[in-house]
Amino acid sequence: QARKRFGQNFLHDPGVIERIVRAINPKPDDAIVEIGPGLGAITEEILAINPKLQVVELDRDLIPVLRTKFFNYPDFRIHEADALKFDFSQLVENGKRLRIIGNLPYNISTPLIFHLLSQAGVVQDMHFMLQKEVVQRLAAVSGDNNYGRLGIMAQYFCKVQPLFEVGPGAFRPAPKVDSAIVRLVPHETLPYPAKDLSTLQAVVRTAFNARRKTLRKALGGMVTVDQLQGLGIDDGLRPENLSLADFVRIADLLVDQKVRESSNNEAGND
Ligand code: SAM
Repeated sequence: QARKRFGQNFLHDPGVIERIVRAINPKPDDAIVEIGPGLGAITEEILAINPKLQVVELDRDLIPVLRTKFFNYPDFRIHEADALKFDFSQLVENGKRLRIIGNLPYNISTPLIFHLLSQAGVVQDMHFMLQKEVVQRLAAVSGDNNYGRLGIMAQYFCKVQPLFEVGPGAFRPAPKVDSAIVRLVPHETLPYPAKDLSTLQAVVRTAFNARRKTLRKALGGMVTVDQLQGLGIDDGLRPENLSLADFVRIADLLVDQKVRESSNNEAGND
């Protein structure tokens, strides 16, 4: 019996499972981690190639099912844990970066992706099944309807590659939405490194909290019109018109300003 609370929709279409595994292209020596193995549909195929697969599963009732099903894989490790709070870096051995995969629970996919992005430094690549709309948001570029915080932060850390769509019929129970597979590959060097990540996050969050407003209004509490114009950014544009590079430039300007203010204060205190 699938549990709605855990976002359980189990894959049962062998053609789709095979296509996912082919896209992942697992190798025997990879450090693969699956989030939410469920009843083991993808797990089984990966284990046949990579017997050291590790999984993170929150539903404790599934743990004995997995143990029984895969008892003949002594190196198979199950972590009974909440992937949202899981420290993936603890799974790194001999400096080998992780390949993270999963047909993710759709009810927590956005916070889970943000959590994983924060650990991108230990990740080689990620392959996820997500609601199709979430994949569109991840891949969206400035000007697209789906462009926003998720896509900007994903593209800050990773190259985003939508791979293929999967209809509801591939799952039991069938979800009400279409799904798609996406590949995220962390950049070797960040194309637009921000001076301070949390300032960038704050700027992007503030901007898209008012995505229908002009930048002048949406970012009014953070930057002045003069500052925007100084960066060559038209304050009459909307947040969705700015590129990742633009957001980084705004965030860096705020960091520089803070540094100047605090050194002025220190000078004043002398
Ligand atoms: N991989 C299986 C498949 O494709 O058939 C199951 C996919 S199902 C959409 C999502 C899985 O994630 C379920 O097994 C569910 O129990 C598990 N799950 C839900 N929330 C989780 C969390 N916070 N941490 C880890 N696993 C979670």
